[in-house]
Amino acid sequence: MGLDCHHADGAHPGLQGLALTHALGVAEARCTENQERLTPPRRRVLELLLRANGPLKAYDLIAAFGDRAPAKPPTVYRALDFLERLGFAHRIESLNAYVPCRLPDAAHSAAFLICDCCGAAEEFDPDFKAQMAAAEARGYEVRAVTLEARGLCPACRG
Ligand SMILES: [Zn+2]
Ligand SMILES: [Zn+2]
Ligand SMILES: [Zn+2]
Repeated sequence: MGLDCHHADGAHPGLQGLALTHALGVAEARCTENQERLTPPRRRVLELLLRANGPLKAYDLIAAFGDRAPAKPPTVYRALDFLERLGFAHRIESLNAYVPCRLPDAAHSAAFLICDCCGAAEEFDPDFKAQMAAAEARGYEVRAVTLEARGLCPACRG
């Protein structure tokens, strides 16, 4: 997380053990459904995102990728493209960092509550009906919306 915050220690834990194994299994099944493959590099990048306590930058992923040596950057960027395309991960523009998707359905608009103190980013299900209706009224076809709301998480407020 790279920020000097001690409010939120342990407040936003990544997945471990069975929960991690389960999440990777779900991803694998969804790949099969979509006739895609969760290749070892794709799986490794997803695992790193799921384990993390907060958003990770591409260079964090490159550094953590291998046991002995960092990954070649294109390997990680290609894996991230794939994970984003399948809806397993989202890029948070304002942080230039990635998080695993916490919501079940494949393609959706993403909304994040981002803590300016500890750097946590929590995904929630946005209700964009009014905005979508307004866009449609203007003749637009909207495919995806990303909302990034900044502030303080409960741990840092408390
Ligand atoms: Zn999501
Ligand atoms: Zn926080
Ligand atoms: Zn804090």
